[in-house]
Amino acid sequence: PAAAELEALQHADVARLLPVPGAESDKYRRGVVGVVAGSARYPGAAVLAVAGALRGGAGAVRYVGPAGGAVLARYPETLVHPGPPGGAGRVQAWVIGPGLGDTPGVDDVLASDAPVLVDADGLRLLDPAAVRARPAPTLLTPHAGEAAALLGTARDEVEARRLEAVRELAGRYGATVLLKGSTTLVADPSPGVPVRVNPTGTPWLATAGSGDVLSGLTGSLLAAGLAARDAASAGAYLHGLAARRAAARGVYGADGADGAGADGSGAVGAHV
Ligand code: AMP
Ligand code: MG
Repeated sequence: PAAAELEALQHADVARLLPVPGAESDKYRRGVVGVVAGSARYPGAAVLAVAGALRGGAGAVRYVGPAGGAVLARYPETLVHPGPPGGAGRVQAWVIGPGLGDTPGVDDVLASDAPVLVDADGLRLLDPAAVRARPAPTLLTPHAGEAAALLGTARDEVEARRLEAVRELAGRYGATVLLKGSTTLVADPSPGVPVRVNPTGTPWLATAGSGDVLSGLTGSLLAAGLAARDAASAGAYLHGLAARRAAARGVYGADGADGAGADGSGAVGAHV
């Protein structure tokens, strides 16, 4: 592709995007994230999405769903609501989908006038016309398999043509799309905007639950007021950096004295 079609995300650009609380900040100004995630079968996805939002700097997280007990056990600061999402009160950005199963709520969240991030199970019943009609930005965060299902094609097709796939989805849904994978791409629905490429990815991220953390983290940036494209690219960037730091400390439970390199390359050696 021509150089102008792609844009590599730079460290300094991300640093500039990140919200830093000022003396005038309160929890609402820092951003309230609404998380609709988890199910009886996958309560952990709710805990991980909430964790991502809190670590991303959210002023508060409202959780709507059946895993409130698990969420509160780990994060007692979470505001748990019995649902539906429309009754949860003030929310500056919604995250819906991780571990959701067939739990309803997507339509209710899409009807809100706040930005919405849709991931995982939330992507399954998504109506392009409903997404296009939203008054606020929508951000879709599929992996290749989920993107293939949205496009009605095979996963291999998406992997072979990731740039085209992410652009096609953005156009079809009128949404910003973050396509996860070994190189994460972020496409904007507006024509002529370059696709951003995240340089911090690491295969240490390829582990169950890591996408759930990304959705909460990115949701906290949306709630802080970042544009969908900026929230998505900064979220992916920080997610990769965090994984590299964790890997460098030792992904197999080492205490940090394992000699792993900053890129995580020594972590396997520490294990064997
Ligand atoms: P999910 O598929 O929803 O669990 O999300 C997995 C997360 O791990 C996403 O942020 C992916 O971009 C990331 N990821 C998965 N595999 C790789 C890989 N081989 N290299 C870098 N990042 C990856
Ligand atoms: Mg996932």
